[in-house]
Amino acid sequence: MVAAALQRELGDDLVSVGDAIDARHYTAWNEAPGVRPRALVRPRTVDDVSRTLALCARLAQPVVPQGGRTGLARGGVARGGEVVLSMERFAGIEEIDPAAATMTVRAGTPLQTAQEAADAAGFALGVDLGARGSCQIGGNIATNAGGTRAIRYGLMREQVLGLEAVLADGTVVTSLNRMLKNNAGYDWKQLFIGSEGTLGVITRAVLRLHPKLAAPATALCRAASYDAVVKLWDRVRAGLPSVVSFEAMWPEFYGFVTAHTPGVTAPLAADDGFVVLVECAFAAGAKVSAQGDAHGAADAQAALEACLAGCLEDGLIDDAALATSARQAANMWTLREGLAIDTLPHLINFDVSLPVGQIGVFAERCRAALAQRWPHAVSLFFGHIGDSNVHLGVSLADLPAHGEAAVDAVVYGMVRELGGSISAEHGIGQLKRPWLGHSRSAAEIDLMRRIKTALDPSGMLNPGKVL
Ligand SMILES: Cc1cc2nc3c(=O)[nH]c(=O)nc-3n(C[C@H](O)[C@H](O)[C@H](O)COP(=O)(O)OP(=O)(O)OC[C@H]3O[C@@H](n4cnc5c(N)ncnc54)[C@H](O)[C@@H]3O)c2cc1C
Repeated sequence: MVAAALQRELGDDLVSVGDAIDARHYTAWNEAPGVRPRALVRPRTVDDVSRTLALCARLAQPVVPQGGRTGLARGGVARGGEVVLSMERFAGIEEIDPAAATMTVRAGTPLQTAQEAADAAGFALGVDLGARGSCQIGGNIATNAGGTRAIRYGLMREQVLGLEAVLADGTVVTSLNRMLKNNAGYDWKQLFIGSEGTLGVITRAVLRLHPKLAAPATALCRAASYDAVVKLWDRVRAGLPSVVSFEAMWPEFYGFVTAHTPGVTAPLAADDGFVVLVECAFAAGAKVSAQGDAHGAADAQAALEACLAGCLEDGLIDDAALATSARQAANMWTLREGLAIDTLPHLINFDVSLPVGQIGVFAERCRAALAQRWPHAVSLFFGHIGDSNVHLGVSLADLPAHGEAAVDAVVYGMVRELGGSISAEHGIGQLKRPWLGHSRSAAEIDLMRRIKTALDPSGMLNPGKVL
């Protein structure tokens, strides 16, 4: 009945039902197909989104907004009985304003397409992440994505100057602001950034653009302990203003990925040291010399080499390997991205944050607590670190049925004990919903519920996610 009403209102081109719904629309990344939604709507315009939500509100029909389906908290998939609203057809760059250094972009645009458009116009986007080819700008905003450049440019929240969203009742709210300063009343767009599709559907955004970067310099270096990694971060932050990424790998993680990534030779031998990937890049047009020479790849190499030489001399690191080609740099990133660990049996991934100085203690205690309960547990730590984010992959070959919750309890219990957050950048979705109280107080969760009720009184938007 709902499907038929949607087809009558929007037409067969926009609405699919039954077998006509491609299974990818009810599958989360790396997971088997879940529940087929009641209908799939793929709008081509903002008005299509508005009419869909207005009709679903009248019919009390729950809706799941969906982007590129790369989210890692199962926020963009149906749980049963919902309509999925996929933004994939509402894609494209609407405008690049070079003077304001902004891009107006539709929500369904893949991140990589937006990055390439920015590059072609002589700019760079502030957010980059491994799923760039599939994830969408709308999904990046809805999850407040972080990624590998957060230490330089901040998270997605820092990139959004203007936003358009469709509310649960179909009302379109547009504020495609292009000014850095705009304090005219409440900055309502902030509510939608990181709301994971529970407060409205994001349709368009104005993103900040940054000066295009010249070719980066990339290196791996080895530090003896987590404390040494923190000292190295202090030094890099102060002495290498061109730093873009600072990514740490614990010895067990580095040992695993170097042994299980075919075709990539480890630039540094795996031993009991921490391996850190440092990348720096200058703005392409920046002038360095009195003669007005522009920065290039060689300057980045020289700056990184000088910084790491100083760190070696002062004993902060004991070895380093500087990439001398784009291929070598890509190999370093392949190791850090660590897709090799996905082959481990019953892998459970965690994305948490803690004050930078606490991450080493967290990793030690967490590993010990997991090993005490499950002596054969494999715990692999890695992460962005400079922005307080650490990832953990736990593999238990003999994980009992429904054993994931017990592992979650150990890891999130430790996060709570140390005052961290159960979600650094992937969001809460369905997966972390039971644990929200580990990072947010009752008063905070009550405030979130009040906001949800104000914007979506019937709870039709992405029910069962976040709250
Ligand atoms: C290999 C890989 C690497 C990754 N690396 C990172 C990383 O470094 N940093 C990071 O932060 N994340 C990372 N992720 C996670 C994921 O890519 C991000 O969360 C991304 O922002 C999700 O975007 P999406 O378009 O795929 O959204 P989806 O997965 O489709 O949806 C995610 C959530 O956003 C909501 N949503 C989507 N579009 C809209 C919209 N237009 N309006 C309202 N709500 C919407 C959905 O309802 C859902 O709750 C990675 C994922 C993979 C697979």
